[in-house]
Amino acid sequence: MSNLIQPEDLNKKTYKAGYIAIVGRPNVGKSTLLNYILGEKLAITSRKPQTTRQNLLGIYTRENAQCVFVDTPGLHLQADKQINQFMNKAARLATEFVDMIIHISDATRWTSDDDYALELIKNTDKPVIAVVNKMDLLEGKNAVIPKIAEMTERFNYSEVVPVSALKNTNVEHLLDTLVNYLPYGEQIFPDDQITTASMRFIAAEIVREKLFKALHQELPYSLTVITDSYKEAEDKVEIFVTILIERASQKPIVIGKGGKIIKMIGIQARKELEALLDKKVSLKTWVKIKDNWSDNSATLQQLGFNQDFEGH
Ligand code: GDP
Ligand code: MG
Repeated sequence: MSNLIQPEDLNKKTYKAGYIAIVGRPNVGKSTLLNYILGEKLAITSRKPQTTRQNLLGIYTRENAQCVFVDTPGLHLQADKQINQFMNKAARLATEFVDMIIHISDATRWTSDDDYALELIKNTDKPVIAVVNKMDLLEGKNAVIPKIAEMTERFNYSEVVPVSALKNTNVEHLLDTLVNYLPYGEQIFPDDQITTASMRFIAAEIVREKLFKALHQELPYSLTVITDSYKEAEDKVEIFVTILIERASQKPIVIGKGGKIIKMIGIQARKELEALLDKKVSLKTWVKIKDNWSDNSATLQQLGFNQDFEGH
């Protein structure tokens, strides 16, 4: 008799909910995976923008479970020691309050940045799940077992889950695994909410990410990206984004020869935003120097490098 589950226990022990930190160096497929998990609903929630201090990446809700994915800002940049310390702190903050961590890596390439990411989460007492993405790039089915063995050698992961975010392989299994490790608890966000970040924030984040990818170590770490204006019309979204740098000497780096870099990141960011919003996007990016930014808009105009990225 004592083994019988009481009705009140049943209530408590059916719903699972919790926060999951996403850790991984750039290019391993974090965005691709998250976009797939969240589906194409991001545009819907963007209609009710809200400002929260915590910018949650995404909320995945299904029957009886809710996963709230949190970004680890500390892993976006890697430069000298001092910056590392700063980022260490940021990453630790992000991983501290979560219930579990997923470490995403690329099946085809393990780099020192992966070691760095692993270093940051190594000492946690929380479940850490290794997500090995891009499995589609490895030859044949025989690749799975050695890959799992390799990952198990690297760290005592709670689970190693090989996936292909691009081909949508094994992602359902990954979600089941995540839910498995989630604590029991009440639903945190309403069913239809899939982010707490505003589209303004997301737009700036996307631009920042593309900049990072284009510049790597050259990226000025003090760089800030903000969305100045976000206007949504029936068939089109118009976004103005400012890239704030600290010194004039950083400007040629961000802009690139003949505007090559800024043009490229503008196009990449626009495409990602269009996919996300399922709408035509016109993205305008400006590079401005911080000191002059807040108090002199005339100087701004002169300093600002303006590029248009109209959809075609
Ligand atoms: P992030 O920097 O970690 O957010 O990585 P992205 O999601 O931007 O992906 C980086 C690149 O890897 C993009 O070109 C993706 O299309 C590609 N990619 C992501 N997932 C996969 C995958 O499962 N298989 C393959 N072949 N490519 C992938
Ligand atoms: Mg990304």
